Amino acid sequence: MAWIDLHIDSLRRAVEPGVDLLAGSARAQADLPRLRAAGARGAIWAACDDVYLEGPESLAFVLRMLAAGRDLVERAGGELLLVRSRADWERCRAGGPVGMILAVEGAHSLLGCVEGLAALHALGVRVLTLTWNQANPFASGCGATPGEDRGLTPLGAELLVRARELGLWIDLAHASPRTLADAMALLPPPILVSHAGCAALRPHRRNLTDDQLRALAAAGGLVGITIYPPFLVAEGGATVATVAAHVAHAARVAGPGAVAMGTDLDGITLLPTDVRGLEGLDRLRGALAAAGLAEEEIEGVMWRNAARAIAAALPEG
Ligand SMILES: [Zn+2]
Repeated sequence: MAWIDLHIDSLRRAVEPGVDLLAGSARAQADLPRLRAAGARGAIWAACDDVYLEGPESLAFVLRMLAAGRDLVERAGGELLLVRSRADWERCRAGGPVGMILAVEGAHSLLGCVEGLAALHALGVRVLTLTWNQANPFASGCGATPGEDRGLTPLGAELLVRARELGLWIDLAHASPRTLADAMALLPPPILVSHAGCAALRPHRRNLTDDQLRALAAAGGLVGITIYPPFLVAEGGATVATVAAHVAHAARVAGPGAVAMGTDLDGITLLPTDVRGLEGLDRLRGALAAAGLAEEEIEGVMWRNAARAIAAALPEG
């Protein structure tokens, strides 16, 4: 059994006093023991300023989380690897150390400074989520009303060029419809939407419409399906079967090769009722089979599709 998660927010826990993600923590949903038990080859660990601190506080918070991630790797005695290149990733993919691919969730933390991206890259960041829900100097987020949605700005287009030069993978989760379309037209494959659901099953600004899923697939992209109940059902509790329904729908519309998992663990306070954290997601396998996915497709969703996309997105180095 193997697992890759395209989006966890566990660095949020890592900066909390008294939480040790190496030993495991009751306050975490994903930590090293849980990742090991799940057969995780790696995850995209987001430094996520979703409380949307304004100005320098936002950057300071992100830097604290990135430092905490690097500290975890240093203390893990080879159990975790900071993934900077395809060669690093191949070690994780083969079942070596659990890969930590560092991400910054929301380019608002760059404070409008394109060249700040090179500094984040030097710290090991390999994924940048272009927006959180709000607009930033680079692009509109999914919180924009249709009238407010400006898509990618000229500065945002510059940022994408710089990201490509550096070998940084742009994540379009949280993007507005226009930002998604604008950025997809400029970015090389594989296009990434790391954590979202299907709007056909649950209309929500954070979910992808069938047209967007098809466009993503046509652009060689990948969507990570979240397990956050409010994105999956209008009301009441979700279960792993609900998660599986979103996976199955995305697989039907975009093709099974374009679907992966991006749980948002440790960034969410609500979970499917039959899941307490990463440890409950072994049930997903059975739920995906019950939703009609073939064994090979399940393997693809659980890890192989993400493994392939990560390898393609990382610089060779
Ligand atoms: Zn998010």
